[in-house]
Amino acid sequence: MIDVNAHILLIYTGGTIGMVENPVTGSLEPFDFAHLNSHLPELQRFRFHVDHIVFDPVIDSSEITPEHWKKIVRTIEYNYHKYDGFVILHGTDTMAYTASALSFMIENLQKPVVLTGAQLPIGKLRTDAKENLITALEIAADKDVLGNPIVPEVCIFFQNDLLRGNRTTKVNADNFNAFKSYNYPNLGKSGIQIRYDKKVIHQPDYDKKTIFHYQLDTRIATLKLFPGINRQTVETILGLKNIKAIILETYGSGNAPLSPWFIRLVRETVKKGVVIVNITQCNTGMVDMHRYETGRELLKAGVVSGFDATFETAIAKLMFLVGHKYVKEDIQIRMRVPLIGEITRVEDRMNETI
Ligand code: ASP
Repeated sequence: MIDVNAHILLIYTGGTIGMVENPVTGSLEPFDFAHLNSHLPELQRFRFHVDHIVFDPVIDSSEITPEHWKKIVRTIEYNYHKYDGFVILHGTDTMAYTASALSFMIENLQKPVVLTGAQLPIGKLRTDAKENLITALEIAADKDVLGNPIVPEVCIFFQNDLLRGNRTTKVNADNFNAFKSYNYPNLGKSGIQIRYDKKVIHQPDYDKKTIFHYQLDTRIATLKLFPGINRQTVETILGLKNIKAIILETYGSGNAPLSPWFIRLVRETVKKGVVIVNITQCNTGMVDMHRYETGRELLKAGVVSGFDATFETAIAKLMFLVGHKYVKEDIQIRMRVPLIGEITRVEDRMNETI
């Protein structure tokens, strides 16, 4: 049920959604949010209140850094008590990274934070922007009979799909259905009505405070395996100075070559104090290093399972954990535990032993 008294804050960070075509030159330019109502007259038909903040400068989301994530979180923290929900307009390219990062940075979030964007600018005739923005605003204003928000989590709404932010990946550079959550069900679907799947939506503890975190550390690297990857490449990446964690992108259920030089390099890197997290190159399913000898060797070398985490979420979670200055062992433990629904809890894999 939409709360007619709701106040929603719209935060425009950049991306295609906020562009209009210059009628004279034909080029795309960021549109002036002061004229939001003229580009989106539908806004006046909402019964609830929408304020907006525009980042200066607005950016293509390929330019996003953890500093922008902090700026978004600061904006939310500063306005947290004044608004019932937040809609963030963001370029689609890195939206899944931002959504993942925000989910860790805002602990015990009690209000909707809905990210959306568009494949075509709001000023284009066939745009998907209006649909995405209008529905995202409605989701942010939706409450249950007790007056609690229906979706008090960081989520992405895009072309009918409401997805958990830290489970989402951009899958399509052309089509309107640009995002997917492979390993977690949709939180909702919009059609004639918005239908929520309440049993899969996270519920916060309303008796506890919301805590905003700003510690992020980018000393993270990634090594993507491919058949024939040469020793020098592996040595260079695993040997990088001043790196705290490395994501190893493996095959299938978390498998890697058994070559002694490879396993030795992995083992030595972990011994040096670097956390190595195993993320599969498959979209669906999860890492299970017990299944094959090629996985067991990684486990023995000290690699920690990323289970069914997306690459985006693994990056954001590592930045968050390294930023909090946890020691290697603590990071390894926390990578195996869902902090905010980013991995599937598999009880019998929690105490992973050799
Ligand atoms: N390059 C743009 C961005 O991510 C694409 C988009 O907005 O969809 O900012």
